[in-house]
Amino acid sequence: MTDKQFQWGNNKRYNDFPSLFKRRFSERIQKISIDAGFTCPNRDGTKGVGGCTYCNNNSFNPAYCSPKKTVTEQIALGIDFFNAKYKAQRYLAYFQAYSNTYGTLDHLKRIYEEALSHEKVVGLVIGTRPDCVSDALLVYLEGLAKDYYISMEYGVESLNNDALKAINRGHTYQEAEKTIIRTSGRGIHIGAHLVNGLPCDTPQMMLEHAISLSNLPIDTLKMHQLQILNHTTMAKEYEVNPEKFHLFEMEEYLDFVVDVIERINPEVSLERFINQAPKGWLIAPKWGIKNFEFVAKLDKKLVERDAWQGKFFKKIP
Ligand code: SF4
Repeated sequence: MTDKQFQWGNNKRYNDFPSLFKRRFSERIQKISIDAGFTCPNRDGTKGVGGCTYCNNNSFNPAYCSPKKTVTEQIALGIDFFNAKYKAQRYLAYFQAYSNTYGTLDHLKRIYEEALSHEKVVGLVIGTRPDCVSDALLVYLEGLAKDYYISMEYGVESLNNDALKAINRGHTYQEAEKTIIRTSGRGIHIGAHLVNGLPCDTPQMMLEHAISLSNLPIDTLKMHQLQILNHTTMAKEYEVNPEKFHLFEMEEYLDFVVDVIERINPEVSLERFINQAPKGWLIAPKWGIKNFEFVAKLDKKLVERDAWQGKFFKKIP
């Protein structure tokens, strides 16, 4: 913190997502994860099989969320879980597992509307790949956004097509950029996601990726360090060729995140910097740090370096 008030309305050294949320909603809002039983085009053979090489969806699915239960049942279980913990008043249905727009429009409407029909649900957060979003879906979501908070979270992951190929992503960066632009101007909140440390990406390239992405019409950026997880294709690749991976040390990553913060668009809010795979899933890197502990270290580092978001930002024409 500093005495200086930044353009995002407080003295935190970056435009943090919780503050953005507080400005948007007058009460505490909690996301409830939902697994609606989707798959991905790089799993079912449409674009490939096996999925992204680092992907293990089981590592981030909460216990209450399972495709064997209806959307309504998962919301009820999620509310029970969070009521005990936070007494949250209202909720966002977070379609998180796999690609949550990969289905017919009729099917998507049915599950989104099932979630929105719950009296305590005020919006949707939809995690998906940028190559699974039709214009018809965007028109439909634009309509919903007039009455609800609707957020699309796009897995961009890297701006380097060699890296995307190396992880069997099954889409290019150019597809991601087009989808972000197609989504903009519709009242839909746009989030983008990057992974730092993919094969074929150098730290300098990762820095440039974050800067370029922040020049697109996105509202939120989420990023995290690459984690090698058990039971993934990447785990096997890492065992055979560990030298192909740039796995950040935590101190190096802290400085990297500060470099990113100083150079990205101050209008983009930052939602996440690291991932924490559950115990037993993680092979490397083993930092042993929780998200809030990393954020505390980051705040300290920003003060040490007298850094703030957008300090060196230049709009790309
Ligand atoms: S698109 Fe997402 S859920 Fe699907 S395989 Fe890749 S990382 Fe996993």
